[in-house]
Amino acid sequence: MKRRQFVGAIAATAGLAACAKSEQECSGDAASGKETFAWSAVTSWPPKYPGMGIGVENLVRRIDAASAGRLKIKVYGGGELVPAFEVFDAVSRGAVECGHDASYYHKGKLDAAQFFTAIPFGLNCLEMNGWLYYGGGMELWRELYEPFNLVPFPCGNTGVQMGGWFNKEINSIDDLKGLTMRIPGLAGEVLRRAGGTPVTLPGSEIFTSLQTGAIDATEWVGPYNDVAFGLHQAARYYYYPGWQEPGPTLEFIVNRRAWDSLPADLQAIVEISCQAINQDMVAEYTNGNAIALERLMDDPDVELRRFPDEVLERLKEITDEIVAEWIAEDPQAAKIFESFDAFRKRSTPFQRISEQAFMETRR
Ligand code: CA
Repeated sequence: MKRRQFVGAIAATAGLAACAKSEQECSGDAASGKETFAWSAVTSWPPKYPGMGIGVENLVRRIDAASAGRLKIKVYGGGELVPAFEVFDAVSRGAVECGHDASYYHKGKLDAAQFFTAIPFGLNCLEMNGWLYYGGGMELWRELYEPFNLVPFPCGNTGVQMGGWFNKEINSIDDLKGLTMRIPGLAGEVLRRAGGTPVTLPGSEIFTSLQTGAIDATEWVGPYNDVAFGLHQAARYYYYPGWQEPGPTLEFIVNRRAWDSLPADLQAIVEISCQAINQDMVAEYTNGNAIALERLMDDPDVELRRFPDEVLERLKEITDEIVAEWIAEDPQAAKIFESFDAFRKRSTPFQRISEQAFMETRR
């Protein structure tokens, strides 16, 4: 009964139907496992956007199917219900039950969350999953979000990203001086220390900003998503590798009270569906990036460039400096970094002789 009343209170305050039926019917249904839930999910993405937007649509469809319609989630694009970067707050205060975004957007209010998306020169997609599911990462993530009434799940990964689109060549670290670039999170701080000006923009504003010259460069994701925004029509030089985001994980976050209101089988369905999408999105990007890169290589107005080694080495040095200063002042970040960095050090030797060495044989 207590749980029932609690859910009713959430539904009343949030103006949402936690139970699609009347209170009495719900109590009966709860016992027979037929209680239904109607949730809302807010996201940071344009509606049905390739990769991340499609990922969250696939997630709610699978949850609906696996639960035989007992848990229905309506998805809202960034800005439809709440602004793109206010997903964390909206779910935390219970205005909606759940959301899909990236934890590094919480920089400024919860800096330590950045490790659970990506930090520059951090973990690739395989390693993020290894760390999160088996290396202690999930325990740290849940602990970090507990005071915010949020339950986090890994829910999508883009794989290694591209360095971004530039309207001039980057031949030395000095070419980053005076550069205004859309680049979020810790990587933005790295650019700042290299003499540039980082800006954070939601995806939907990038193309116009680049085309009008409000920014000189942008990183976004990779060929699949970048072509979808037409970024190749707004800048000429396409740089790799994506030092700033080697395997960013997206998050599905659930309000703690909404989570606790679910019976155990629906909780399991949400958890397993998130894990399925975490893998499925990688498959979508692997296919989508290959096709989109082929198209970009056929475009005479696009030049693919690798960042010079000296630029990458300097960016790595700056990253290490910034992380060292950061963790010296932020005990939460220090605790998570210790686990993250230990995993990175342990994982690197095998990645070198497996993924990296194998791909060299396919030249
Ligand atoms: Ca990015």
